[in-house]
Order: sequence, then C-alpha cells, then structure tokens
Amino acid sequence: MRKELSIHSFRDLLFHYPYRHVDKTRVSPIGGVDPTTDIIQVAGKLISLDVVGEKRGKRLIGKLRDQTGMIDLIWFQGVTWFQKNLIVGQSYLVYGKVTFFNSTPQIVHPEIEVWSPDKQEGKSHLEPVYPSTEKLRTRGLSGRQIAKLTEVLFQQVKEKELSENLPESVIQQLKLPSRYLALRQIHFPSNQEEYQRAVHRIKFEEIFMAQMRMNLRRAARHRFSRGVVFDKVGDLFHGFYKNHLPFELTNAQKRVIREIRADAGSGKQMNRLLQGDVGSGKTMVALLTMLLAVDNGYQACLMAPTEILTKQHFTTISEQLKDLPVSVALLTGSTKTAARKKILAELEAGEIQILIGTHAVIEDAVKFKSLGIVIIDEQHRFGVAQRARLWEKATLPPHVLVMTATPIPRTLAMTAYGDLDYSIIDELPPGRQPVTTVHRLENDRARVMEFIKAEISLGRQAYIIFPLIEESDKLDYENLMRGYDTVKGYFPEPAYWISMVHGKQPAVQKEQNMHRFVTGDTQIMVSTTVIEVGVNVPNASVMVIESAEKFGLSQLHQLRGRVGRGADKSYCVLITSSKLGKDARERMKIMVQTSNGFEIAEKDLELRGPGEIEGTRQSGMVNFRLADIVQDKPIVEVARKFVADILEADPELNSAENLQLKNYLQAQRDKNSWSKIS
Ligand code: ADP
Ligand code: MG
Repeated sequence: MRKELSIHSFRDLLFHYPYRHVDKTRVSPIGGVDPTTDIIQVAGKLISLDVVGEKRGKRLIGKLRDQTGMIDLIWFQGVTWFQKNLIVGQSYLVYGKVTFFNSTPQIVHPEIEVWSPDKQEGKSHLEPVYPSTEKLRTRGLSGRQIAKLTEVLFQQVKEKELSENLPESVIQQLKLPSRYLALRQIHFPSNQEEYQRAVHRIKFEEIFMAQMRMNLRRAARHRFSRGVVFDKVGDLFHGFYKNHLPFELTNAQKRVIREIRADAGSGKQMNRLLQGDVGSGKTMVALLTMLLAVDNGYQACLMAPTEILTKQHFTTISEQLKDLPVSVALLTGSTKTAARKKILAELEAGEIQILIGTHAVIEDAVKFKSLGIVIIDEQHRFGVAQRARLWEKATLPPHVLVMTATPIPRTLAMTAYGDLDYSIIDELPPGRQPVTTVHRLENDRARVMEFIKAEISLGRQAYIIFPLIEESDKLDYENLMRGYDTVKGYFPEPAYWISMVHGKQPAVQKEQNMHRFVTGDTQIMVSTTVIEVGVNVPNASVMVIESAEKFGLSQLHQLRGRVGRGADKSYCVLITSSKLGKDARERMKIMVQTSNGFEIAEKDLELRGPGEIEGTRQSGMVNFRLADIVQDKPIVEVARKFVADILEADPELNSAENLQLKNYLQAQRDKNSWSKIS
C-alpha cells in the first residue's frame, strides 16, 4: 500500500480522496444503453463467464442481464483473478464506459461489486470510490476496502484532531464548511451539493496555504536577508543614460529600472523575476542595472544559456560601453586557456567589472572580488541549484535578477513564484509592427520559398527552423541536412548564401555561421532550435518553422520573437503536415490569432497543464491534491486577496485570530507524528 499509493499513515488515508461516489439508487436499465451512452451504472445478474481467445487475445467475457437487456463485460487483464472471484448467478453492480462492438454494448474493465438490491432500499447516501491499483486489488485491497478503512477511521477521529486551520473570518466570509466537516464530507457526503462544498473548501485551503507559505517566505527573506547596497546613481549610469543610450526607454523599461533601484538600494537582498515578452528590451534593463552595480563599487555578472546568445550580449554591450571607463569580459566554455587565466586573475583583482558568460561562470575557479549582482537571462534553461551556487561567491549574497521571455501566467506566478519579487515589461518599443503569422501545409512549401525570395530581394533575411524530432542527435542531424538540401535547391549559390547552425557543430563554427548571418553575409539561416532564445537580428523579417506541430506553444512564440525586431513588417510561417491532432491544430490557431505572450502562456497552461510548464516542475508548488490552478483560477484570485489582507494586517501571524493558521503552517513543516500502517 505504501509503495503503490504512497499512503504511509492513517493520516494519509484521510487525505486519500475518493475520485467519485456511487449512488446506489441510480441504476440505469441496460436496455436503455445506446451508442450515445458514455459512462453508466447498471445492475443485473451475471449469467455467464467465459474465457475466449488465446495468448495476447485472451480475454474474459461476462454477460450481465437485467429485466430490460444484456451487456458484455470484458477483461483483458486479471483474467484469472476475476474468473476465480466472480460467481455466475450472482447479482452485481457495474460501472464503466460503454463501447459498442459489432452492435453489442460492452464495458471493458468495469468496476464491479456484489449487488444486493433489498439492502439498498431507502438508502441514498453516496459511497466513495477510491483509486486503487491492479496489484492492490489482487491482494484484496480494492477501492471498497479502502472505503471501509476510511469509514472506521472517521468513527475514531475527533473533530479536534482535524482542527480548523483557516482563520475564523475567512470561514465566515466565504461560508466554508469547517475543515473536519469538509474532510468527512469529501469521503462521505449525503448529497452532491454537500460534496461540492467540501471539495471547494479543500481546494481553497490548498491554494490558500501554498500562497501563504510563499508570501511568508518572501517576507522572511525581506526581513532577514542582508544584501549589498546600491544606493548611489553614479557617473557611469548617468553618463551612459545621457550620452550613449541608443533610444528612448519605454515607460515600462523606466518603471522596471526604478523598481530594481529601489530594491537593490534597500539593504535587502534582491531576488527578482523580470518578465518581458520577446523583444521588449530586457537587455537594456540588464545593462543599466549592471552599471548601477559598478557605480557602487561592485562587479556584475550576466549569464545566458547559449554561447551564441552570450557572445551577442557581449558584442552589443561592449559596443554600447566602448566610450566609458568600464571593463567587460566574456567567459564561455570555449574561452582558450591563456585568455581564461587572464580573465580569472582580473576578476579576482576586481579589474573586470562586468562579466558576461555561459554557465562557465559558475565553475569553482571563477572568483569575484566583490560580486554585487547576477543577472540570469532566459531563466528556464538554468537550474535553481546553479543559481544558488553563485550566491556563495561573495560574503554578502549578490542581488539576483532573473529575466525571462517565457511569460509565466499570472495564476501560476502567484502560486509557484510567489517568493520572488516580480517586475513586468508589458510594452514593446515603439514602431514595432505585429508579426503576421500564417499556417501552411507542406505542399505549399514552394510558395513559401517564393515569398522568402521576394523578401530577400527587398534586402531582408529569413530563418528556416527544423525541429529536434528524436532523442537521437543523429536523426536530428539527418533531418536538418535533408531540410538544408531542400532549401539549397530553392536558393542556389552564388545568388544566395545560407548559414546553418546546429547542436553538433563545434562552437567556433556555430559562431562563424551565426556571425555571417548577423552581418548580412548570408540571407538565410537554417537551424535547429539552438537560435531559439535571445538572438537579435533586426533585419530578419521571415521566420519559417518546419514541422511546426512538433513544437510547444511557448517555443513557437520564442521562435517567432526572432523576427519583428526591426521597423520592417515581419512574417512567421508555420508549416505542418495536413494530418494534425486536435491539440496541434489548436496551437496553430492560437499562434495565428495572437502575438501576446501572456495570452499564449495562459493557453499553454490550459493545453499542457501546470506540471509541464518549464521551470515549475521543480518548484513543487503546483502539485495540489484537488486544486488545479487552471480550472480553479477564480479560487486562486480569491485566496490571493485573503492572503494579502491577512498579511497586511498581521505580517507575522501573531494575532489570536491567526494562531491556528500559524500553528498549522508550523506543524506542516515538522510533521509527521501519526503512526504508520504498512
Ligand atoms: P528581449 O527582451 O527579447 O531580450 P532585446 O533586449 O533583445 O529584447 O531587445 C530587442 C530589440 O529592441 C533590440 O534590438 C534592442 O536594441 C531594441 N530595443 C530595446 N529597447 C528599446 C527601446 N526602448 N526603443 C527602441 N528599441 C529598443
Ligand atoms: Mg533577450
């Protein structure tokens, strides 16, 4: 039981919720079953039970009859066990999904239990049905047995052992059932309405507690964590702002910089998540923040996930700072030994003020003299553990600014990232035109290529992206090569030049190919998703994504974000096969309809579920037993409001009214005193 369902104690059993209830008074006539019937509960006599077929086709067929008709019950698994335990002539209550086979209705792997009609009379209460597993069932621990255990357990558990954990005012305002009542009714409700109320209460509690914990953690960090202080805005920042800023900042960029300045000047350690859609200008925010650090006598480090992106940041930033007295260095996995040695020495001496690099910067050998801030670009590629390592590089932990263009839906951010402070750039630089997105099928490819030709003749450039299809690098490579040959067929040298970048290339070659595209020597970039994040070539106006159905929404959005960065009208073409699954079709539709990253993130969350959104899995904050932050968005909002109000009035939960809440949160931390059952 422990292994199969991870139930270790009696207490766990209370929280092993039924997934449905049987209402034994609701039995349908078998004769009423027709092809539109979905899930049904019927009762009748088992009139035969036979094993048919052999080996893999072997199955057990039972025939169940009531006064109105007959239905087949089929088992492919557990044949021997069911054959031994079911009795012909006995009445059974059966539940399951109806399918039709040769116009005969059947239920495959039904839930089944002995039915005694007279005993049920007048008894309309809902009986819980619990998840069990095949293995437990064959050992006699079925969902029924779990129900019995739970029933016995509830006779013994007193209300005070499941005491209330929400403040009284919350219970009253929202008219929630008490915790004890809700837990009992979720197992043994007397009607559907009672059950729904219980479920609602438990969901609310789960979300409320998660948010409460997050907020308390953030508050504790604010109270206790000392950080380096960036309190002055000095010559570098001012000098750059006045004389070298290549464009007017957007209001959103200005606001975020103000937020960062206030935070980093407060004496607390900043731990901030900066979200901004692709192309919203996060790099400039990073640059100004780093100048602020240097102005205050600290070093700054900007970390990006790929060599290409790192190199690009280095080039742009060095160029923008070339007239200012600040020294910038680049450190990646391919930095040569001699150069690397020099950089390490200069870093430790404090001569390098800004370090830009890949994860090579978190190797132990890299030591800073006085690291004041770490900026992590495109966070979803870096593990939390890696982040933490950087902190140990200074006596006072440096500020951390995490930048991401994969928008995190609000509901998720509130729940899973609640312990980070949070800034949003919700505005694109002026003059951007939305990227026109179209969906084309493979047999339109020739026309798509003609379109690229037309754009190139106007002096523009194009990306053509191929997906990573298989786990195997080799297959990916072959797929890309085939694609490259096709593209080459349409765009022969010397009229056209093509860059190709993929994961198997040596870094130097990747670099060169990328560089040729950036400088406009090549008009077309054929690539796998290595260019996915961050790359900035404003002259590129077409993004073609081959086998677009193989990509997730946020990835498609990222890729599309590579175009539409200049003043030219840009296009994104999603090429797919004509046979598309429902989800893939939905993804294409969403991409064509909207270019708003936050909207796309919400859809992505709906389609994939929270566990699949990058960066959330390890947070463990979205794995509720009952609540689902997509479907229960309204509850998330309500809980957030209550949590905020409570903490505003009583930040450390010291009042009498919040005592039970505080105790509960504490007990959760150092649980588990209940006895073990298995
Ligand atoms: P991202 O947020 O995706 O990292 P970047 O920082 O790469 O975006 O910026 C995208 C492009 O927009 C760059 O070419 C950058 O120079 C330009 N840019 C950034 N901020 C502004 C602004 N306020 N006005 C005009 N162009 C800007
Ligand atoms: Mg970027």
